[in-house]
Amino acid sequence: MSDQIKLDSAIHDQPGFDLLAKCVHCGLCLNYCPTYRTLGMEMDSPRGRIYQMMRVHDGQAEIDESFTTHLVRCLGCLACETACPSGVQYGRIVERARAQIENNYKRPLVARTVRKFFYGKVLHNMGLLQVLARLVRFYQRSGLQTLMRKSGLLRLMGVADLDRLSPPIDREFFFSEIGKVFPAVGERRGKVAFLAGCINNVAFSHLNRATVNVLTRNGIEVHIPAGQGCCGALDAHAGFRDDARTMARKNIEIFLAADYDAIVTNAAGCGSNLKEYHDLLEHDAQYAARAAQFAAKVRDISEYLAQVGLRPPLKKIAQQVIYQDACHLAHAQKIKNPPRELLKAIGCELIEIPHAEQCCGSAGVYNVAQTEISMKVLEGKMDDISSVTAGMIATGNVGCMIQLRAGVEMRGMKMPVKHVVELLDEAYS
Ligand code: SF4
Ligand code: SF4
Repeated sequence: MSDQIKLDSAIHDQPGFDLLAKCVHCGLCLNYCPTYRTLGMEMDSPRGRIYQMMRVHDGQAEIDESFTTHLVRCLGCLACETACPSGVQYGRIVERARAQIENNYKRPLVARTVRKFFYGKVLHNMGLLQVLARLVRFYQRSGLQTLMRKSGLLRLMGVADLDRLSPPIDREFFFSEIGKVFPAVGERRGKVAFLAGCINNVAFSHLNRATVNVLTRNGIEVHIPAGQGCCGALDAHAGFRDDARTMARKNIEIFLAADYDAIVTNAAGCGSNLKEYHDLLEHDAQYAARAAQFAAKVRDISEYLAQVGLRPPLKKIAQQVIYQDACHLAHAQKIKNPPRELLKAIGCELIEIPHAEQCCGSAGVYNVAQTEISMKVLEGKMDDISSVTAGMIATGNVGCMIQLRAGVEMRGMKMPVKHVVELLDEAYS
């Protein structure tokens, strides 16, 4: 990284006065904030966090353990952004504050090492990701996981919730499909590039295949460009904005090398980050314009399919389905109706739950890093789900799927949790 880029990031990766000053401290966002509702503390509310950031900005407070604790407790769900009548861009603010922490605060050694390994190595190295995924698969399939669960050891070690949150690793990874082109079935109605993600390649390869299948059966030619990598969302949310920029530049080079109608993703978290590439690279003279061009082409799969229109399904999915809004669809991308419209189009009866737009507690790796708060948030979500009668839960983000499956298991319910695309795939297969 050049010295100029380092200097730019040190100057820009902190919430500026222009962003912070938009907050008029009215408090109208407070009751929409899951951490405020769960912990009951002003410092864990959007208004309280912005107040702390302003104090740091004005030099009245340090970037210390307390500041870091309240900032990392934020789910980044952006319910506050939707609720705020003053247009506070909380997502941009919190991402910059976390980068400011990363650049100025020294975490304890264990936390530093784990973060460096996960963000610095695993997400950047698909070979290493595959090796780790195979180890986890061995643990899950060899009987070791069952033994550990039955012995009560996981509970004794305090990692039972973490174990429940690890997704089953696939036998065949999706990496084998990267670089391929999948022709449209019937008359071609469009041509898209698909971003396969990172964890999706090892734990949700069936979802990626379902995405390709639904698109091609709807007349869309699907390209999965070689050389693509992680979108950088997890890095950006954790404060590693320079690493996120590196990934963004790489994806821009690859996805803008050909002329696609859209760049499609099936993960709400990835989609919202991809649509923010122009924000991430706004001070990069070489990439700023292309980042904006890239961001304008990004579509969530539900958004894209609703836009081009579904062909009649081969069969109807006559199920009562709860649709749980993924925060990074509903709040970050303002996509609420398209997934619902798609479910109705394949014959599902939509069952609305109270507070569908409230976070389930997943929030990227939040449920692993802040498991206790995450589980409390999940409890509320499961209460809402239990208050209605339905046969299935559908959502638009793999993180939400993992979290909701854990909630269903904890309650002893027998309710499948699927991605909207998986239901569409059933309707077209
Ligand atoms: S992003 Fe979510 S958790 Fe964070 S302050 Fe806003 S509402 Fe609260
Ligand atoms: S973030 Fe918005 S809603 Fe919340 S206190 Fe500030 S101005 Fe009010």
